Amino acid sequence: MLIVPIVPAAPPPLLPAERMLVLLLVLVSAALFARPLVAVARNILTAKPDVGFSLRPLVPRFLSLLREVGLQSRVIRHRPLPGIAHAVVFWAFCAFALVTANHFVWVLGIELLSRTSALAQAVYACAAFFAVAGSAGIAFLFVRRFLLRPRWLGEKLSWESGLIAMLIFLLLAMHLVSCQVASASVAAHLLWWMHTAVLLAFMPLIPRTKHLHLLLAPVAIFLRRGGFSNIPPLDGDDDFGLVAGVDITRIASLQAYSCVECGRCMEHCPAVVTGKQLNPRDVVLNMRGHLRRQGALSEEPLLGVILSDEALFACVTCGACEAQCPAGIEHLPLLVGMRRGAVNTGVWQNQHGHRLFLQLERGTNALGRPVLERQKLLADFNLPLYDGSQEICLWLGCMGAYDPKGREILGSLVQLLRHLGKKFGVLRTESCCGDPVRRLGNDLLFEQLAMANLERFQAATPELVLSICPHCVRTIEVEWKQFGTSPPIMHHSDFLAAHLPELQATQSKTGKVVFHDPCYLSRYRGVQKEPRSVAALGGSIVEASRHGDRSFCCGAGGGRAFLGDESGTRIGHERARELLATGADLIATSCPFCHSMLGDAMADMQSQPPALLDIAQIAAAQISVQHLADVETYV
Ligand code: SF4
Ligand code: SF4
Repeated sequence: MLIVPIVPAAPPPLLPAERMLVLLLVLVSAALFARPLVAVARNILTAKPDVGFSLRPLVPRFLSLLREVGLQSRVIRHRPLPGIAHAVVFWAFCAFALVTANHFVWVLGIELLSRTSALAQAVYACAAFFAVAGSAGIAFLFVRRFLLRPRWLGEKLSWESGLIAMLIFLLLAMHLVSCQVASASVAAHLLWWMHTAVLLAFMPLIPRTKHLHLLLAPVAIFLRRGGFSNIPPLDGDDDFGLVAGVDITRIASLQAYSCVECGRCMEHCPAVVTGKQLNPRDVVLNMRGHLRRQGALSEEPLLGVILSDEALFACVTCGACEAQCPAGIEHLPLLVGMRRGAVNTGVWQNQHGHRLFLQLERGTNALGRPVLERQKLLADFNLPLYDGSQEICLWLGCMGAYDPKGREILGSLVQLLRHLGKKFGVLRTESCCGDPVRRLGNDLLFEQLAMANLERFQAATPELVLSICPHCVRTIEVEWKQFGTSPPIMHHSDFLAAHLPELQATQSKTGKVVFHDPCYLSRYRGVQKEPRSVAALGGSIVEASRHGDRSFCCGAGGGRAFLGDESGTRIGHERARELLATGADLIATSCPFCHSMLGDAMADMQSQPPALLDIAQIAAAQISVQHLADVETYV
């Protein structure tokens, strides 16, 4: 049987002069390593503390660390092949920790691992395996970055990345070669010195390049604010948001330094894909550049330096960047934080945005429709008022109350509630939940809207609020809590999925249905199966190229639905193209904003587009063939 040697040869004992030289080189390398690291640590630690940040609960933090760092789950999941290559190189680093320590203590003439012990055999077997796998992994990553050059890795070739890849490859290869030579030989001696030189050259490069993520990304993942796309509260009346360098918080600084420049965020960003000015990777890197140039607590304004006003307000807050990022970076607090700064200091001048703010300040709705239209809807749909005795309080939202298509969806849900024998009622009046103004950075108005609604709910105290809009659900459930409490709320996809046995199919299912995942449902809430189970009442499900938590936005989020024209290709058109490419006969949605954006996009693109229905309309069609004709004639 062929036995492959796995234990590296021991070099001969070092001469005193050699020992002195190694110690000197270690000191130089350590000093070069520490110097930029101290500057980074100073910038992070002297930055503004994060309001409301708490380390507890600790268990989820350790679990994320284990999953995302130890198992490299996010790295592998979103880009399987390069992800596995990266993971193998990372695991090789871990496998070599003890081997490298053992290498250096040889200077003192001692060994941490006795080469003949069972422990040493196991450690060296593991190291040999990862030396082979890791060198293949780093070679693959090198070829990808320098020869295949996917555009997400950036236009410019990074010489540091090439140098570091070569040093890692050399370290792993030299370890394998050292297993083939005799102990105490000249070759073993030479290899020991080469190994030492490469290691000492590698160390100072880490804090000077994007490889700083080796040290900081695990910390950033552990210290993430938590939740998904959570917008931190403002720190009192004097906090205007992210206006200047002095407003960048410790966690934001840590995250800026942790970016690995992988481009995953930009690959999935609808703004980048459709040619807008915004690029989430550049936002993070420009913030890092600002911190390097100006240090923490500078007075340099951020808008115009980190990104332009147009780029900032191009964000649809879809969260694709944050969901993809393997380094724990939270883009939404940065982007919404800067929008807060632009709105609160009056820098943002946008007629559509100002009209939206004005409408909502005047107590109307996000669509600017007369409030009497809602009263008429209550009468037309014969909707009872919620009086505390019904099991469900149906939240209409601006789209359900005022948008013609939104009303059709609401009408279907009302029909289903009646079919299911549910007792429900609606609030006499509602204000906008505050989603668009919150995402556009107007916290004052958001607070006014949330408080007005909370007062209504305090009087009504419903056991369950039901909504057709994922934006309302997210805002009411998560963001109103900033003001103390929020009513228990459910999206209609969860509700209908729970009542699926009572919505038996009466129509034959012949066609194909593609379900468009709304960002605020699939990514923000992780709800993907439930709406599909309802959409499947209309036919067999086919999937778009991007779906589930990798879904592509319709273009309406982040207040964009109210901001008029967009530059570049329309995001809704891009998404409609993907959905149409499936050849589905029916496009299903579960968000009135998505419904509106996709409807407009498909009408622009095709004279006879496939049917577009909300899952409530699909389910309602099962209980009444006539129903669809009814709602289509209602406005
Ligand atoms: S939230 Fe969406 S639109 Fe905004 S930067 Fe991230 S990926 Fe781009
Ligand atoms: S922000 Fe995250 S996803 Fe984007 S380039 Fe940096 S590490 Fe990659």
